[in-house]
Amino acid sequence: MKILKFGGTSVGSAERIKGLLDIVNTDDRQIVVLSAVAGTTNALVEIGQSFLLGKTGTALDQIKSHKGKYIELIDQLFASDLGREKANNLINYHFNYISSLGNEMFTPVEEKIVLAQGELMSTTLFHFYLEEIGIPSVLLPALDFMKIDQDNEPMVEYIGEKLNALLEITPDNKLYITQGFICRNSFGEIDNLRRGGSDYTASLVGASIQAEEIQIWTDIDGMHNNDPRVVKNTTPIAHLSFDEAAELAYFGAKILHPQSVFPAQRYNVPVRLLNTMDPAAAGTLISKDGKSSKQIRAIAAKDEITAIHIHSSRMLLAYGFLRKVFEIFERYKTPIDMITTSEVAVSLTIDDTRYLGEIIKEVEDFGRVRIDHNQTIVCVVGDFGANSHGYAARVLDAVKHLPLQMISYGGSDYNVSILLGHEYKVEALRSLHNRLF
Ligand code: ADP
Ligand code: ASP
Ligand code: MG
Repeated sequence: MKILKFGGTSVGSAERIKGLLDIVNTDDRQIVVLSAVAGTTNALVEIGQSFLLGKTGTALDQIKSHKGKYIELIDQLFASDLGREKANNLINYHFNYISSLGNEMFTPVEEKIVLAQGELMSTTLFHFYLEEIGIPSVLLPALDFMKIDQDNEPMVEYIGEKLNALLEITPDNKLYITQGFICRNSFGEIDNLRRGGSDYTASLVGASIQAEEIQIWTDIDGMHNNDPRVVKNTTPIAHLSFDEAAELAYFGAKILHPQSVFPAQRYNVPVRLLNTMDPAAAGTLISKDGKSSKQIRAIAAKDEITAIHIHSSRMLLAYGFLRKVFEIFERYKTPIDMITTSEVAVSLTIDDTRYLGEIIKEVEDFGRVRIDHNQTIVCVVGDFGANSHGYAARVLDAVKHLPLQMISYGGSDYNVSILLGHEYKVEALRSLHNRLF
């Protein structure tokens, strides 16, 4: 079994949806994971925000305008009146449902239900389209198997059991379709795997049933060696190890959801990043033995980082101090990304600031605290193991003209990270690119 995930732009128009059949081989057993049609999740976020703010009129206008795009898409996708009618009934149902949620008490629970409608629509539309052109397919409802626990961690074994049971119902079927991004939480409510989460779905599905391969189809020919939105002349990387890909995804390479490498890595399922616009391009293979001899592989950047500097001359050297600090972050389920220490101070960074106020209050018991908002982590991935030398110096030399807030080296063999103000990000990425590649 192979898993093929198509992102928003890959299902962004009638033409693209029809084009998927050049890629999906209908003779192979495979699960196709779809994102919402491009722009839909952003629109649903806006609609949810309007409802939360009590701006019902604005929300209804936004719903109407977004629904218009689907009417156009359906018109171009379906050839028969029957196909069009079914598809129009479907989107009427979903948009009416979204509108009806605004009549009730609208809380973050309803907001997540609104966000889930995009993937529910795209997958059913694709299923209806296949039906119209006579290709058999089975819809697997992600809400029946994709589950996260009370810590928002996916329950891989549970997912595998449920999914295998669903697959056994139709042993002769080849093509399955399911929703990316959406899941149920520990309360059984509709939830999601965070923005860009369809990659994570594909990896979880592939890991949980130990698929042969996971393919992530998007709008670019693989993982590039720097952010192509910021830097010119970036090039795709043919082969990455799971560790290298995980670092790049976690530290901001948008082509992959930050968590999406881990399930595939744990169950050793290779991942390919491929381009829907150029299916013949080699793309990137991510696998166990992906490492090449090239010492510096790629650069990525993660924005909206908050740095917390704790100055504590009294306590830092006392054993148990760091544990007490880390426990505060653990209690508020806030992951720490980078950390540096000196004799009298410790600095760390977080990107989830939901509990920042509470955290600062507790950390202030230990000493003086300074917060820097709007920081960026720039991460250079390559072979920085003990046997290679000089590479970290080259990284620092490339950014010597910029004010660095923190430097992290030695945490893993694959990564050197620096923290700087967001205003220096573009210059840092370009300068590193020019000097390292
Ligand atoms: P999808 O909707 O298919 O999930 P995304 O927009 O989430 O697609 O991810 C693909 C985009 O990621 C590319 O269009 C590219 O602009 C961006 N991107 C950022 N960093 C990288 C990188 N290092 N390599 C490739 N693409 C990257
Ligand atoms: N549709 C979701 C989003 O836009 C999930 C995804 O595209 O991966 O975030
Ligand atoms: Mg994405």
